[in-house]
Amino acid sequence: MNKLFARHALLPDGWASDVLIEWDSTGAIIAVASGTPAPQQGSTGATRVEYALPGMINLHSHSFQRALGGRTEKAGDSKDSFWTWRDLMYRFARNITPAHIEAIAAQLFSECLRHGYTSLCEFHYVQRAPDGAMYPRPAETAERVIAAARLAGIGITMLPVLYSYSGFGEMPLKPEQARFKTDAEDVLRIVEALEEQRDVQVEVGVAPHSLRAASVTQIAEVLAALPKQRPVHIHIAEQQGEVQQSLSWSGRRPVQWLLENVPVDRRWCLIHATHLAEDEISGIAASGAVAGLCPTTEANLGDGLFPLESFLAQGGVFGIGSDSHVSQSAVEELRWLEYGQRLQHQRRNIAVSATERNVADFLWQGALRGGAQAAGRPVGAIATGHRADIVVLDDAHPNMFGLALDEVLGSFVFSGNDNLVRDVMVGGQWVVRNQQHLAQQAIAARFKQTLAELREFR
Ligand SMILES: [Zn+2]
Repeated sequence: MNKLFARHALLPDGWASDVLIEWDSTGAIIAVASGTPAPQQGSTGATRVEYALPGMINLHSHSFQRALGGRTEKAGDSKDSFWTWRDLMYRFARNITPAHIEAIAAQLFSECLRHGYTSLCEFHYVQRAPDGAMYPRPAETAERVIAAARLAGIGITMLPVLYSYSGFGEMPLKPEQARFKTDAEDVLRIVEALEEQRDVQVEVGVAPHSLRAASVTQIAEVLAALPKQRPVHIHIAEQQGEVQQSLSWSGRRPVQWLLENVPVDRRWCLIHATHLAEDEISGIAASGAVAGLCPTTEANLGDGLFPLESFLAQGGVFGIGSDSHVSQSAVEELRWLEYGQRLQHQRRNIAVSATERNVADFLWQGALRGGAQAAGRPVGAIATGHRADIVVLDDAHPNMFGLALDEVLGSFVFSGNDNLVRDVMVGGQWVVRNQQHLAQQAIAARFKQTLAELREFR
């Protein structure tokens, strides 16, 4: 029964019709054939659906921040900014327990799945106990997030964070950052502890938090000990303030400095990379690294707009992430990505290429490719050897009526606010049916209890 028949499926080269997809007992796709006769309705051969897409990769997540959603939208005394938001986030992070971290992550992951994400990269930095001590199990909190991913059924790339300093030039950490503190040795110990978790659903990489929080010596030490194919993610150039601090410290902008001092290549994912000079745009594109864009969070925090048009013109690779999780919808990230560019340039239909003129098709396929690269897992394509991670659209929704095939994703991404993701499969297993996550009730009950417990710490 490891078969799905799609009247229309989005394959790496575009839409195909009458597609039979088969996978093995590990959840890996073993055959994809288009133009096959439809199985009889009700026969035991294959489930029949109308529209099937590869599930999206959410390449940047701090899952605990899901519990902050909607709670940081009140004006303070000073000019509110990323930095004042960060103070609120620190206060929140001070008190959460490993059990809270797991409960919040499970809720988030179930929501991500319902909105079409089937993989996620967790940039994980709350790694110590509230008093700043390492947990007896060094990977305690990372293991909790992985447990939540297994419970919800989403694929995960866990990225333990290297976080040693509070600013450029190895400034000491502040007391409120005590739970995040790791040096290169700590990170490698956590990575080693996580080795036993690696399987078809779980990969492990690393994440130097930023050039503010990790030194070049530490980054080199971690890279030297890490297997060559593992993903490496870093926050960079998110805020103008960060660019200014970098210039005063080294005379170089953050991305310039990174490209000159660290061997950045395809395994790297540069998160945000919002504020770039021309040579930085071409430098990232030439390196093959992924630009990890998080449009709803970047908008929420007032970061700025990524220079997408110029980056794409130079063959740059991008993916999307929901970062602080003000949105759990892949559609909303892609919509904001394109709309930000339209508002900035006062033109329409910007994220396209010479060969792909449909904006939504270009965005979905592009974010699949970059997301898969950033995740370091065989995901993001309905193709042999990839995971059977498949999203089925709701063809009974009015937005899906009367569409030509090259309008399906346009309607999905740009029309209305109903969730058009009907069913979701990860590794050949259904985890969402008829828009309901199969473990939704139990997961939501734990999340509710967690928020009640955390309320007193806000
Ligand atoms: Zn982030």
